[in-house]
Amino acid sequence: MSYDNENIFAKILRGELPCLKVYEDDQTLAFMDIMPQATGHTLVIPKSPATTIFDLNAAAAADLIVKVQLVAKAVKTAMNADGITLFQLNGESAGQTVPHMHFHVLPASIATARAHASEMADPKELESAAKLIRAQLKI
Ligand code: 5GP
Repeated sequence: MSYDNENIFAKILRGELPCLKVYEDDQTLAFMDIMPQATGHTLVIPKSPATTIFDLNAAAAADLIVKVQLVAKAVKTAMNADGITLFQLNGESAGQTVPHMHFHVLPASIATARAHASEMADPKELESAAKLIRAQLKI
């Protein structure tokens, strides 16, 4: 499937839509999920136009997992979480709703978390979680 330049995350990357950023470098952006499955739910995306993990080359995939580890560690500390769930959906049939590859960093168990992309967060709660995570990542 060809990459859809008009998907929400592509617009966020181009600065056409806002996000609550917690981390950025030349290859990666991390920001708060607007419909968090638990407080602190963060998304880590590559800047390259990849729809699924299969569209990333090995070097980009390797770089991304290092950034996921970095962000996950910050989320764990910031949210005082005992555990972190990482997940990543590829294709509509797997439940992917935004066609730009991303990792979910969830400071909760998937078994007890809210349903996927189901409920908009209170903006104040989202901002305060972002603030705590940014403090760990020193941005
Ligand atoms: P997927 O279903 O593709 O694995 O996950 C997409 C995620 O993006 C969902 O968890 C959903 O809540 C989140 N999301 C959808 N639209 C937006 C948006 O406009 N901004 C942000 N920050 N997150 C979004």
